Amino acid sequence: MKYILVTGGVISGIGKGVIASSTGFLMKTLGLRVTSIKIDPYLNIDAGTLSPLDHGEVFVLDDGGEVDLDLGNYERFLDVRLSRDNNITTGKIYREVIERERRGDYLGKTVQVVPHITNAIQNWIERVAKKPVDDSNEEPDICIIELGGTVGDIESAPFIEAMRQFQFRVGYENFFLIHVSLVPVVGSVGEQKTKPTQSSVRDLRGLGLSPDMIACRSTKPLDAEIKNKISMFCHVKPENVVGVHDCNSLYHVPLLLHSQGVLDIIREKLKIASDVDPTKGN
Ligand code: ADP
Repeated sequence: MKYILVTGGVISGIGKGVIASSTGFLMKTLGLRVTSIKIDPYLNIDAGTLSPLDHGEVFVLDDGGEVDLDLGNYERFLDVRLSRDNNITTGKIYREVIERERRGDYLGKTVQVVPHITNAIQNWIERVAKKPVDDSNEEPDICIIELGGTVGDIESAPFIEAMRQFQFRVGYENFFLIHVSLVPVVGSVGEQKTKPTQSSVRDLRGLGLSPDMIACRSTKPLDAEIKNKISMFCHVKPENVVGVHDCNSLYHVPLLLHSQGVLDIIREKLKIASDVDPTKGN
């Protein structure tokens, strides 16, 4: 099982979900089975009790799970059927750990965020990633994990720490990290600014995670020299800095990623054989 983690920096709502689903879609074109897990670091057990005015529409899954709308994107882009367990919230993880504590599973131990909450997060991901999600009824090959919110938030800290440990649990060749950042244009000169991206990558590294790829959201296509600057300051190869500007249709995003060689970059790190036939369906 290979894992692609998508994190976000600078602000929320910059398009992590769309980039995560588009990446999953590209992996699917290789004939691989792809599943996804969305992490929402809020304390609610699920999105059913959130106001749509506050959080956007709630998406209802086949098993009745009331979840974030991103799960709807995944179902559409990946042609899969997800279950309520594909959406992890802080509430669900704490409920599980507290129920185990009451059952006496940790008798004699002090129950703590590290390792009990972080282990529960990793175990949950490994368990759910293996669940078949398409008609083949076979275990998926790749799991896309999207971490909601912004790196550096207090709420997402246990999840970031769990992912830091997870990269070693699953091994270097099975873990790919895409960090989605914002490149704003400030002032009348219209210059694309890299500082917010530099700061968010620094925050991410400070927490023990290094991006394999930086996806830069911007209004207009990313300038070549801005790409090089982000590469230099963020210690990521220039070709691994990809631009994702505003598109008229979200269905253009997979094409935009593909045109920048994203598939080859992911294949190289995850050691996915290059002789896989991209025309093979699954
Ligand atoms: P996040 O997961 O970071 O909260 P989403 O993926 O849900 O963000 O996207 C937030 C909003 O931005 C959505 O309404 C989505 O349609 C829009 N969006 C995302 N990427 C693009 C893009 N490349 N072009 C235009 N709109 C986009």
